[in-house]
Amino acid sequence: MVLPIIAYGDPVLRKKGKEISKDYPKLKELIDNMWETMYGAYGVGLAAPQVGLPIRLFMIDTSPFAEDEDLSPEEKKQLEGLKKVFINPTILEEEGDEWAFNEGCLSIPDVREDVFRKPDITIEYYDEDFNKHTEEYTGLAARVIQHEYDHIEGILFTDKLSSLKKRLIKSKLANISKGKINVDYRMRFPEAKKAR
Ligand SMILES: [Zn+2]
Repeated sequence: MVLPIIAYGDPVLRKKGKEISKDYPKLKELIDNMWETMYGAYGVGLAAPQVGLPIRLFMIDTSPFAEDEDLSPEEKKQLEGLKKVFINPTILEEEGDEWAFNEGCLSIPDVREDVFRKPDITIEYYDEDFNKHTEEYTGLAARVIQHEYDHIEGILFTDKLSSLKKRLIKSKLANISKGKINVDYRMRFPEAKKAR
């Protein structure tokens, strides 16, 4: 089932996510629904707060990025097969010189801005079967994970922009909260008069 994606302005996007246990109610169903929701919106990542749940769970599938002609063969290969669910993750390390990439977010449609992040991360997490992993990621793969990880910390990519950029997109963000935007996937807007 496709779930409505929560739009910018909803307080759930600002909550620090809580850890979950193996017996979180209907976890398998939630994960299936989140995949369907993410693919339905052509996203490369989706975090639980974006479907209204303040818990530490997100998923990524970076394969659409693997098409990019500018990437090295190694990077393409890494991005191609990277489809994963991250439960109760902790980023243990972030290293290297910050680099810019034009990010977007399913909760903030039609806003894309350059965001600076460190290129190399080490992350500890549980998969959907609650097996524990510690892995290193770099470049675009790390970038997608960092963006989704921020969601479960209550952080949005627009928080990381300069104050000038923030001023420039302020009215756009206000319109998104009100539902004054055309979007081709299901959304829930915190300040819309009626649910759509
Ligand atoms: Zn996002």
